Amino acid sequence: MSLPPLTLYLAAPRGFCAGVDRAIKIVEMALEKWGAPVYVRHEIVHNKFVVDGLRAKGAVFVEELDECPLDRPVVFSAHGVPKAVPAEAARREMIAVDATCPLVTKVHNEAARHHENGLQMIMIGHAGHPETVGTMGQLPPGEVLLVETVADVATLTVRDPGKLAFITQTTLSVDDTADIAAALKARFPAIIAPAHDDICYATTNRQMAVKAMAGKIDALLVIGAPNSSNSKRLVEVGANAGCAYAQLIQRAADIDWRALEGIRSVGITAGASAPEVLVNEVIDAFRARFATTVEMVETAVENVEFKVPRILREPA
Ligand code: SF4
Repeated sequence: MSLPPLTLYLAAPRGFCAGVDRAIKIVEMALEKWGAPVYVRHEIVHNKFVVDGLRAKGAVFVEELDECPLDRPVVFSAHGVPKAVPAEAARREMIAVDATCPLVTKVHNEAARHHENGLQMIMIGHAGHPETVGTMGQLPPGEVLLVETVADVATLTVRDPGKLAFITQTTLSVDDTADIAAALKARFPAIIAPAHDDICYATTNRQMAVKAMAGKIDALLVIGAPNSSNSKRLVEVGANAGCAYAQLIQRAADIDWRALEGIRSVGITAGASAPEVLVNEVIDAFRARFATTVEMVETAVENVEFKVPRILREPA
């Protein structure tokens, strides 16, 4: 029986970003340097496949520093941590390695600089996401106000409308954030905006690629974890760009084949914490059911790389 024809459009860029790549390398290098177990506060990146792989090598994932023994190294995840966490690790004289993405650290530094200049901060982000918690935790309580939507802007109570600046989570929807930033500027004309967008290059590029393929596809599959902010945003970007069916899947086994009956073209992308092996697994699953042609939709070429912390580059 001949298989039905289908075109798979592969977004480029997709999948791992430089911050995720570095964070995984940090855990692997820590395991090499100090042996197992190495403790990791929070999932190093939001992907079960990655976390399970590191766990098999001897990483132990915990949510709080209290759960780590004093005599083992601890790694802080790519999302960043409140200032109190490394301070507490230092007080306990633990070996701590910070895998916070340098682009998140850049936002932390921006917040600290504005605070030193007497400005109150507004953060556009998602409540409870570890990056938001980490960034807000760079300043004393009450110094960073969170807004999640345009509607939140109207209800903000600020100390002095003339002394405000805003920052954003790095993994937001570019379009939604632009709307919230516009609402902030309309309500507080003196507010200082980030010099360069806080939304990182990886988030921006992956969203651009999805927009570029949206007009060609009957369905969009985003490979990523349900707690991965940038992956969830890719689903929303696809839906907003006109994809009638835009779905987040963790891997091939999650594909709802019944929902894809009769389709002729599918767009595939992957969040910044999803490894390429899962993309290949999904392509293979399509090849098993369709006469598949793969086409690339490339909107940017990435060549960003971040160094690992000095402590891992020095001999043990
Ligand atoms: Fe860094 Fe962006 Fe990757 Fe997050 S998504 S780890 S901010 S490069």
